[in-house]
Amino acid sequence: MADTPPPADVTVPGPGDGVHGPDAAQVAQRLATVRARVAGACRAAGRPVDAVQVLLASKTMTADAVRAALHADAAARAAGSGTAPVLLGENRVQELVAKAPALTDLAPRWHVIGPLQSNKVNAALRWAAAVESVADEDLARRLSDRVAGRADPLDVWVQVNVSGEPTKHGTTPTEAVDVAVRVAALPGLRLAGLMTVGAHSPDADVVRAGYRLLATLRDDVVASGAPGTAHAGGLSMGMSRDLELAVAEGATVVRVGTAVFGSRPAPTSTAAA
Ligand SMILES: *Cc1c(COP(=O)(O)O)cnc(C)c1O
Repeated sequence: MADTPPPADVTVPGPGDGVHGPDAAQVAQRLATVRARVAGACRAAGRPVDAVQVLLASKTMTADAVRAALHADAAARAAGSGTAPVLLGENRVQELVAKAPALTDLAPRWHVIGPLQSNKVNAALRWAAAVESVADEDLARRLSDRVAGRADPLDVWVQVNVSGEPTKHGTTPTEAVDVAVRVAALPGLRLAGLMTVGAHSPDADVVRAGYRLLATLRDDVVASGAPGTAHAGGLSMGMSRDLELAVAEGATVVRVGTAVFGSRPAPTSTAAA
């Protein structure tokens, strides 16, 4: 076995290549394209171009690929892009804890954007500045307990399943305002807004209607005047394929993965967070 030469078609990563990561120039180019798409969508919607933050969803990507994106973002801002720094998002706590320590020198803001099991809360909170995937009051209470005594509140977003697709995480639209109001009242948490993963549909009207629904629910949360809802104006919605639709409906954060990092390896069968 050890004496068998590798097959001729095996490509050996060159120096500086992330094993599963795209090259840095490609990442920079793609990030610029995403920024241009966001700016174009803001202009089309009559919204200021700095109204939307870009979150990079880095699942399955190496820390090197994420580093390349952070460097490209810093370079664009140094050249006067006027954009806020990108946010980073991880779905799985094990990926967060693997990548975050390698990037501390760049001080990125990490958001948890996938379902968070209670036994992973402590690990997540070591690195996460925000949890966008709060789907019930139980998780919010656990987060509230763990951040008690911190000087700064933890940003939380209530995730809503606007499409009703059974595979999607989140509260139902019917329960969403109630859950958000209860989450907003918990000590140590700051409700930043609502988050959703849009419908997986080729029909732009269907996708857009879901985003409009999330905006309406957000309006209801803020209009409730309930304690802690004053800063809940955020809308985290829109991904690589549909960010223009989300920006048109008022997204304040778009979460982009493949448009910046390229396609991901095929998912494995064990996808537990
Ligand atoms: C992967 C992911 C994204 C980004 O999806 P792309 O299609 O790669 O842009 C956004 N939000 C969540 C919750 C994700 O898991």
